[in-house]
Amino acid sequence: MEFRQSSKLSEVCYEIRGPVIEHANALEEAGHSVLRLNTGNPALFGFEAPEEILQDMIRMLPQAHGYTDSRGILSARRAVAQRYQTLGLEVDVDDVFLGNGVSELVSMAVQALLEDGDEILIPAPDFPLWTAVTTLSGGKAVHYLCDERSDWYPDLDDMAAKITDRTKAVVIINPNNPTGAVYPKEVVEGILDLARRHGLMVLADEIYDQILYDDAVHHSAAALAPDLVVLTFCGLSKTYRVAGFRSGWLVVTGPKQHAKDYLEGLTMLASMRLCANAPAQYAIQAALGGRQSIRDLTAPGGRLREQRDTAWEKLNEIPGVSCVKPKGALYAFPRLDPKVHKIHDDEKFVLDLLLREKIQVVQGTGFNWPSPDHFRILTLPHAEDLEAAIGRIGRFLSGYRQ
Ligand code: PLP
Repeated sequence: MEFRQSSKLSEVCYEIRGPVIEHANALEEAGHSVLRLNTGNPALFGFEAPEEILQDMIRMLPQAHGYTDSRGILSARRAVAQRYQTLGLEVDVDDVFLGNGVSELVSMAVQALLEDGDEILIPAPDFPLWTAVTTLSGGKAVHYLCDERSDWYPDLDDMAAKITDRTKAVVIINPNNPTGAVYPKEVVEGILDLARRHGLMVLADEIYDQILYDDAVHHSAAALAPDLVVLTFCGLSKTYRVAGFRSGWLVVTGPKQHAKDYLEGLTMLASMRLCANAPAQYAIQAALGGRQSIRDLTAPGGRLREQRDTAWEKLNEIPGVSCVKPKGALYAFPRLDPKVHKIHDDEKFVLDLLLREKIQVVQGTGFNWPSPDHFRILTLPHAEDLEAAIGRIGRFLSGYRQ
């Protein structure tokens, strides 16, 4: 008897943890040290969790061994609701769903929405979970282009041209993974206008909403469109450096009477997975109140800000490489000029880099970028490690041909 994977998986692709990982594991097993610049996991690079989060979880652990309400514990949902109330939004505790990270909530929100063949507008490049989950749910991911020449802002004409009578929703990832773009108010409003005109649900992935550099300001889609049904996704993984706790939330805002049936479906899916990891729910209230220590890391002189600067400067020093300055998040998405670097298969490029230099990055096509001329690198390592790694990438590129 042979067991084969479901044909439902045949079109699903998730390269961040893709096949190159097996090679990286094999190298490590053979005694090499591999610099893993593929997943945005702050803990791997010496970022510590805020102490009060750990203390609250430890204190509550003896009481956190049971299932909770399937939307989540009240105190955490209250803290999330209050966070969005301060943006001027009408949010009640019942509009908040807690999940095992944003990832689980994305999966539930998309599954609850799509009929087979329904379309969702998703940015290219994207955080590929959105595309994978849409495909797995029987839907069609339609990618709208973000324009590198305009600081990676979405191309609204391209987006408008791709709306059909099957389009159900538009995904906004702001600040963006992988490009680090933070959208100005007019750009967010432009997307919201299209959603308004075409009756689309807005799915706003704002997990990096507090990881901002320089003068960047985050404009929450929900706050700019109280007249639209907006689902906002955020969580503790990045801002609070506790990705392993798996703790996130989804907030529903806007005219919920137009989404009554959908929300019943979402509530059913929330009950089917019983509840989010209970100890991590107790981290939410501690995280959201009080002083936000992420600002010390993103302000001038802060570790994340210095690393972003180093990554951006050193990438741009490589001949034939250019990189738009990331204004938020934890990544840079440099371009390999096709006239200088003739790369036809960027997965092979990433594998060759790994085998030669023991550095693991992710190819641009892994983020549903249409051509093999980009890769993503994390800005999480210490500045000196980034400088050394980017120096090695530069040397590798200087002799690399496919
Ligand atoms: N959304 C974006 C844009 C991300 O970059 C990530 C993780 O890298 C996630 C969602 C998933 O986060 P979580 O750890 O909350 O599942």
